[in-house]
Amino acid sequence: MKDKIAYLRGLMDGMKLADDDNTKLMRAIADCLDSIADSIETESARVDVIESSIDEINDDIDDLDEVLGFLIEDEDEDDESDWEDDFDFFTCPNCGEVVPLEEDMITAGSDPICPNCNAHLFGE
Ligand SMILES: [Zn+2]
Repeated sequence: MKDKIAYLRGLMDGMKLADDDNTKLMRAIADCLDSIADSIETESARVDVIESSIDEINDDIDDLDEVLGFLIEDEDEDDESDWEDDFDFFTCPNCGEVVPLEEDMITAGSDPICPNCNAHLFGE
């Protein structure tokens, strides 16, 4: 933009224009174009700042996504692998309470008791 205006000014100087109203008008237009070009440069500098801010924010969001991804993976492991692999669920025949029992407790021939009503889960 600036280059083109400079070229325009050079062109006008080279034309040896008469010092009349037309020339004044053309010079005024060239001045006007200059200030427009200045405004555009200022604006595009601001846009650059905004764009780099947006880039930074996007980077932050990516980081957050990673952290959230880890957290969600951890939760999945807790819920599905650890919890359901190690525990079986029994419904108390007396009160209907669902009681999680570790596999070890079931296979060892033990006599687990309902934490809600103290009834024997496997009967008397
Ligand atoms: Zn019970």
